Amino acid sequence: MTVFKYISSYSSEIQNQVKSMLDERTLSKYLLSKYPLPHNIVNDKALRTFAMDLKKQYLKKSSPLSKVQFDDKIHVINNALGLHSFVSRVQGNKLKSKNEIRIATVFKSAPIEFLEMIVVHELAHLKEKEHNKAFYQLCQHMLPNYHQVELDLRIYLTQLDNIGKIYR
Ligand SMILES: [Zn+2]
Repeated sequence: MTVFKYISSYSSEIQNQVKSMLDERTLSKYLLSKYPLPHNIVNDKALRTFAMDLKKQYLKKSSPLSKVQFDDKIHVINNALGLHSFVSRVQGNKLKSKNEIRIATVFKSAPIEFLEMIVVHELAHLKEKEHNKAFYQLCQHMLPNYHQVELDLRIYLTQLDNIGKIYR
C-alpha cells in the first residue's frame, strides 16, 4: 500500500512493472536513462522566472500570479504534489483574491521535466480548479507528454521513498 501510493490509480500492469523494477533495483537506471540531469532552478527567484515564462507563453489572459515559491512544508503525499491557493485578503474595504503557487522542495533536486510538469499542473489550475478533462487538455497543451512525465514523476517518488535520491 505505502510502496505504491503514488501509482495506485494506474493499471495493475503498470503497478506490477514498477514493483518488479523496484525489486530488481532498476528504477534509477530507468529514470536516469530518460532524465539524466538535474536542473538549476533551486531558488524562488529562478522558480518564479521559470513559471512566469510558461505563463506568458501559454496563459497570457489568465489571472495574475502574486507569488511563486518553493515550500518545504509541502510533503508529497497522495495527490498534493504542489499547492495552488487563492488567498483572499482584506485590503482596505475590498476583498482581493490572489493566486499563489507553492512547489514542494523535493522538486529542487529533480530533472527539469518533473519540475516543468508540476509547474504546468499548478498553472493550469489558474484556469481550471478541478482535475477535469479541460484541465488535463490544458496541461497537455503546455506539455504534450504531460501524462508520461506525470507517471515517471510518480515512479521517481516511489524510488525516493523506497530506495533514495538519484539526482544530486
Ligand atoms: Zn491539481
